Amino acid sequence: MQLEGKTVLITGAGRGLGAAMADALAARGADLALLDLDPEGLEAVRAACERRGVKASAYVANVAAEAEMTSTFDRVVADFGRLDVAVANAGILRDGLLVKVKDGAVVEKLPLAQWQAVIDVNLTGVFLTGREAAERMIALGHGGCIVNISSLSRAGNFGQSNYSAAKAGVAALTVVWAKELARYGIRVNAIAPGFIRTEMVASMKPELLAKTAASIPVQRLGEPGEIATTLSFILENDFCNGRVFEIDGGQRI
Ligand code: NAP
Repeated sequence: MQLEGKTVLITGAGRGLGAAMADALAARGADLALLDLDPEGLEAVRAACERRGVKASAYVANVAAEAEMTSTFDRVVADFGRLDVAVANAGILRDGLLVKVKDGAVVEKLPLAQWQAVIDVNLTGVFLTGREAAERMIALGHGGCIVNISSLSRAGNFGQSNYSAAKAGVAALTVVWAKELARYGIRVNAIAPGFIRTEMVASMKPELLAKTAASIPVQRLGEPGEIATTLSFILENDFCNGRVFEIDGGQRI
């Protein structure tokens, strides 16, 4: 896909990886529909995209709320007249052990609400983004690309029952949709980042962050621009389909 003049929707675009991907695609001439919960972050990213000379609009919406997503996708198509790419990027962390044990006795369990919050945003949010994008792309009749953001943690990371389950689900959805949607000219791929320097990772304790960076074969965290470069590659290479691209400095968990 040539990106110039195409319309790209990115969820979680108010900061971090979403903001970096928006900037990279704006630099390649794509118009941006930016979705996030945070209006201030969105406005800063929108203005930066516009300075690249492309059209950019901001949409405040919760990826886990079906009605908000349906109406936002309607607005995007009305505003831009097309939808070529959807990047399902919004995600949250609510880490916790399955059970906490003290002196041989379970003293705490992972609360259902903590499980559900992550499943709602990181898995249901991706489902709604992909479903609404596919419907619009098929109706518009010009094909397109869906890119889901999974994670290295999909392999099963200590303290991340909710996050690992959601990100494994995102990888599986990617394969299902690639098979189902290819007949409509829609390619579906995922990126599974390792530890990338964003606010999500900055919330980790400094000593744990330093230990984590040292455990990565390349001896450093990834940069948001390195995920944005991967997104551009996937979009521009029309033979990429149904794959999860692991961008993690060689780390394994
Ligand atoms: P981030 O810095 O925390 O940014 C996430 C953005 O998503 C925030 O702007 C946040 O808005 C927004 N968001 C959260 N919940 C939302 C919802 N329900 N609806 C709409 N927007 C919502 O995270 P990031 O590091 O850029 O991560 C982006 C994606 O990459 C996530 O899916 C994450 O799991 C994945 N990932 C990140 C890393 C990493 O190392 N950074 C590694 C692997 C995978 P608010 O600020 O208002 O909450």
